[in-house]
Amino acid sequence: MEQGWIDLHTHTTASDGSLTPTQLVEAAISIGLEAVAVTDHDTTDGVEEAVTAGENLGIRVVPGIEISAQIGRGTLHILGYEIDPGERMFAAWIERLKQARRDRNPKIIRNLQAMGIPIELEQAEMKAGGGVVGRPHIAEALLDIGAVSTIQEAFDKYLDASSPAYEQKFRYEPADAFQLILGAGGIPVMAHPGQTRRKGDDLYNLVAELKAAGLGGIETYYTHHTPAQCALYMELADKFNLIQTGGTDFHGHRKREIQLGWGKGNLRVPAQFLQPLDERVALIRGN
Ligand code: AMP
Ligand code: FE
Ligand code: FE
Ligand code: ZN
Repeated sequence: MEQGWIDLHTHTTASDGSLTPTQLVEAAISIGLEAVAVTDHDTTDGVEEAVTAGENLGIRVVPGIEISAQIGRGTLHILGYEIDPGERMFAAWIERLKQARRDRNPKIIRNLQAMGIPIELEQAEMKAGGGVVGRPHIAEALLDIGAVSTIQEAFDKYLDASSPAYEQKFRYEPADAFQLILGAGGIPVMAHPGQTRRKGDDLYNLVAELKAAGLGGIETYYTHHTPAQCALYMELADKFNLIQTGGTDFHGHRKREIQLGWGKGNLRVPAQFLQPLDERVALIRGN
């Protein structure tokens, strides 16, 4: 059989991607992918539309999410695959994450206003177009009013964790995020381990700790992973009996350098990753 390709890490207008779920599915078909996962930040609002589009257009859509969890003073992104977005406990826990954004965003806006920038929360909400509002939308609003000349400048000057207008928001511990994903029938996966900047024993111990807390997989293939990183994460997957996943982190025009299914140019994720995922889903659901 010919090798097929998939993309298990994408964002839609439900969070900070620029394609609607239907447009994303259409794009996945147009480049010949066998499957695409929708993994919006802290929301599954795009999943239903994408799954329906996938059924109509004939491509597998994997329901997913990307949850920002807390480790120490940093962030760990956790992907959840094949979750049932309607599961009650899951839906309630996700609502808490959305509330955390509704609590945080006005604080960032107030900080910016206190710095003399004439920005309103509604401007960021407009950018999100009804989706979950995040810092990328605030950055775009800052660009629109001419407070900065690039999105990067908005983060560097105002929105980065070390920047003056930044505000923390509530986040789950990884162990809680794992339980919430497992409880919704899904598989928790460590997103882009390269972003932890951990290496050697630090990384090994972190993965060991996460595995003990319920981690099921690791995103070995990722746009910004070097071949050496990819090889290292594959070794860890093997060592800890974790499944491998891979994706581009496609955001549409919000991250122009990243193409669906290709990342920055040469990333291809093999469709063979789906079978171990399906096997593990069957295992945790007991069938
Ligand atoms: P939020 O979840 O609202 O705190 O926003 C986080 C999102 O902002 C991430 O998913 C990135 O897409 C984006 N982001 C975070 N830091 C930066 C940065 N330094 N430059 C550009 N985008 C960033
Ligand atoms: Fe994002
Ligand atoms: Fe992420
Ligand atoms: Zn992402």
